Amino acid sequence: MSSSLPACSIPLFDTVASYRQWRRNAYDEKKSVGFVPTMGALHEGHLSLVRRSLAENDLTVLSIFVNPAQFAPHEDLATYPRTLPRDLALLEQLSVSVSGGTRTPSAVFVPTVHEMYPSGISQNTEEQKGTFVEVKGYGHQMEGRTRPTFFRGVATVVTKLFNAIEPTRAYFGQKDIQQALLLRRMTRDLLLSHPEPQDLIIVPTTRDPVTSLALSSRNAYLTAHERESVAPALYSALQAARVAWEGNASKAECIRRAEAIIEDKKREVNGSVDLRLDYIEMNDPDSFEVVSDAMSRQQWEGHVAGRPVILSGAMWVGKTRLIDNIILGAAHTLGIVE
Ligand code: AMP
Repeated sequence: MSSSLPACSIPLFDTVASYRQWRRNAYDEKKSVGFVPTMGALHEGHLSLVRRSLAENDLTVLSIFVNPAQFAPHEDLATYPRTLPRDLALLEQLSVSVSGGTRTPSAVFVPTVHEMYPSGISQNTEEQKGTFVEVKGYGHQMEGRTRPTFFRGVATVVTKLFNAIEPTRAYFGQKDIQQALLLRRMTRDLLLSHPEPQDLIIVPTTRDPVTSLALSSRNAYLTAHERESVAPALYSALQAARVAWEGNASKAECIRRAEAIIEDKKREVNGSVDLRLDYIEMNDPDSFEVVSDAMSRQQWEGHVAGRPVILSGAMWVGKTRLIDNIILGAAHTLGIVE
């Protein structure tokens, strides 16, 4: 443990070596370790992952690390919210009752950039040196279309974190569905045992109870008006597409209905907020490829029995990029369980 870290009743580790000592004890005591990787600025969405881990594991470890490798040079690395003392205070208050007692977070890993990238890290992929993890064929669709180096950064840091933390189970949010599914594929491809692919758990998205806006650290960038009255249009648009899909409209028609919701919102704000849709799309959860325009729900179900569709979108509210998704069909087949 290091003295430069804030005071906290939960053990904090900022080096892999100091954490490993703690992990060895957990092995000796035959305790399961649940792991929740985050970039901090914690909100109820993160906490829902932590609660799930507390309920399912003897011990729960979080990491808080803003990963430079997943931000492109023009993105918001410098301004990304960093609220460590508040994050730790939230975690200190968190507990879950299980038979036989109460569980609280066991440890927080807060590494420096140098600890995670001993060879250094540039946000410019051309300048990068060292070892990177790429899940080829799965990182260029959906979010990867707009953020082409994002998943390489995510896969690299999560591989490092899995090696450092050695979790029995790891918890990711449905909010970033492509990320979670891609990482599950990565654990399978790399024959990882900590965690095994089936122990990468996807937890449903936590939403604002009033507006249904998906909680996100980036919501902190929004004004109250943007957060309450503008940003929720993305989820409303996804819902409109869902209703059309359930009514057996073609995919193209579903997307048109969703886009119409965003257009309505644009008219309503009348230029007072810079609202821009990045995309709304439907994709195959296995390949991430786009569902064809003419496809309807009934055709899809006949085509790939039992496989759901990912309906997802991204939208700019001013300089803030928000994402959201809904699973159409059997979400449990992706291992997403309420
Ligand atoms: P982040 O700190 O944004 O990297 O997120 C850390 C983890 O929390 C990721 O697995 C996210 O998918 C998950 N997460 C973020 N927002 C939510 C939310 N609203 N509901 C559920 N999980 C979330």
